[in-house]
Parts: sequence; structure tokens; C-alpha cells
Amino acid sequence: MAATISTRMLILGSGPAGLSAAIYGARAGLAPIVVQGIQPGGQLTITTDVENYPGFADVIQGPWLMEQMQKQAEHVGAKMVWDTIVEVDFSRRPFRLVGDGGTVYTGDTIVIATGAQARWLNLPSEEHLKGRGVSACATCDGFFYRGKKVAVIGGGNTAVEEAIYMTNHSHDVTLIHRRDSLRAEKILQDRLFAHPSINVLWNKEVVQFVGGGQPEGLVAVELRDTRTGEVSRLEAEGGFVAIGHSPATELFKGKIALDADGYIKVETGTTRTSIDGVFACGDVMDKVYRQAVTAAGTGCMAALDCERFLAEAEFEASVAA
Ligand code: NAP
Repeated sequence: MAATISTRMLILGSGPAGLSAAIYGARAGLAPIVVQGIQPGGQLTITTDVENYPGFADVIQGPWLMEQMQKQAEHVGAKMVWDTIVEVDFSRRPFRLVGDGGTVYTGDTIVIATGAQARWLNLPSEEHLKGRGVSACATCDGFFYRGKKVAVIGGGNTAVEEAIYMTNHSHDVTLIHRRDSLRAEKILQDRLFAHPSINVLWNKEVVQFVGGGQPEGLVAVELRDTRTGEVSRLEAEGGFVAIGHSPATELFKGKIALDADGYIKVETGTTRTSIDGVFACGDVMDKVYRQAVTAAGTGCMAALDCERFLAEAEFEASVAA
């Protein structure tokens, strides 16, 4: 029979939001259990340099930061479980969730901190060449394109950082953006424009990724000018799609209120969702700020909201008794 694990505070996700909720929850005596999910540590584990997380004068590494957060959470009493939730029942308390291997989890409160995932262009050629030249993570896969021509698609912080990162491996990096200005922070733009190995192609959208060779790999990216419609081709053996993220909320559709973009709706100024006792924090509920430090901040809020919710529920139960 499948094991059942019960807790007062069940946290889904182990990025900065989930682990901050765990640290605060553990220190409040809620003995939280963190179900780590598909990518333990979250998006920061596929980032390299982090220079905007307060408290570190020197540049630190994303995976190292997440390791520290996990150690800190465990040190104060949170428990990590290496599992992924595949089923949720929020219709009654304690809430009941099921893990990938059949383990049943019950929680008096739930903190959803499942984050967001990289978005794709959804081209058939992209799907076909994924893992063979097309990737959504330069910091994970960039190493394989040493000395090769590469293209990065997008105009936000991620795309610019990935283009700069790729110069560690390649002297021929092209950033392809669909408009004529970037939305990335100015400091990153300045670094990008000053870099001798990076060229920017403006007003271009990807029509398709072109494969070739034996074994087949990416050889070029076919582009269309968004103003003139002119089609051109850029030689590239690596193509990195960096066009933003989608919230990891598939599991919660129809079970909790989501906004039009699929992010979990929370009551303004809190982490309360449409279900009493279920809280959401980090990128899964925030499409505006999406920073490690804001995710950590909302993780802290979620733990405080859980604590308050449990205290009120216990008080009501004692009055009713
Ligand atoms: P983002 O800011 O949403 O930017 C996505 C980029 O991709 C935009 O330039 C967008 O173009 C482009 N794009 C979207 N869909 C496209 C499509 N179908 N075809 C072509 N281009 C498309 O996403 P992000 O760069 O991943 O950043 C997400 C959040 O994380 C942001 O808040 C960012 O500040 C933060 N972040 C911060 C850091 C840091 O502080 N070091 C690092 C990485 C990310 P348009 O501009 O035309 O819309």
C-alpha cells in the first residue's frame, strides 16, 4: 500500500519561494515538508552568476545559493522529499495530494511554489531539433557549442544574459529580437552592446530552425523581417530560445482560481488563493517582478499566512469544543 505522509504545512516546489516558506514555517514550528518537484532548487539552478541577491558583495552562483537555502531550511527543521505531485484534491481539509510514485501527502495547509518554466516558440522544427542544437537554456547546454556560431532568441534579461554567457564558449553570438528595442535592464544592455563577440539582429522573427548533417543537428535559423517580410538565413549550430516563462499550474487547472495567463490568483497583499488554507508564492503567482528575492519575500509571506490560518482554525476549533 502507498505510504501516507501528513504535515501541517506541505510546500510544493523548492526554489527561493518554497525554501523561504520552509525556513519561516520550520521556525514557526510547523515542521514543513517540501516536495521538491521536477527541478529541485528551481530556475536558479540553471543560472550561473547571480549579482542581485542581497547580502553578497561578490558574484555568487545560482546553484550554490539554492544549496545554501536548502541547507538552511533543513537546519531549522524542514524536511525535503524528492517527489513530484501529480494529483491534488483541494475539496476538503486536510488537503490530499499524490506523488509520482503513489505516495499520498496530506497537508493542513498547502504552499504552492511550483514556479514557472521556459517558453518555446512552438515551431515543429524547434521540437524536431530540441537537444540537437535547439535549447532553452544556454547555461545548461552552452558548453556543447564551444567555438561554434550560436543564436539567442528574445529581448528580455534572460536572452541578454544568455547571449553574454555564450561568449564564454563562442566568439560568434547573435541575439535575434522581434522588435527594435530590448526590454532587458539597461546595465545588461550596455554589456551586450559593448561585447565584441555579440551581434544583434533587430525586427526578426524565427520562421524555422533548419537541420542538416549526419547525425542531424541545427545548421541555420530562418528569419523573417517583421517590417518588410523579407526572409533571410543565419548560420548557427546552437539556437537558444529565451522568450520568457509560463507558470507551472497545469496541475491546478479547475481546482484553484487562475488568471488569464495561467498564474495563480492571490488576494492583493497576501498569498491567499481562492481556497482557504492554500497559499501561493513566487513565480507561480507573480508575472511582474519574478526575481529570486521577490520569490523569497512572498515565500516568507506564505509561511506567515499559513501560521495565521492554522492559529485561527485551532482557535475556532477550541471555541466550538
Ligand atoms: P521577459 O522579460 O518576459 O522577456 C521575454 C522576451 O522574449 C521579450 O523580449 C519578448 O519580446 C520576447 N518574446 C516573447 N515571446 C516571443 C515570441 N513568440 N517570439 C519572439 N520573441 C518573443 O522574459 P525573461 O527575459 O525570461 O525574464 C523574465 C523575468 O525574469 C523578468 O522579470 C526579468 O527581469 C527576470 N530576470 C531577471 C534576471 C536578472 O535580474 N539577472 C535574469 C533573468 C530574468 P518583446 O520584448 O517584444 O515582448
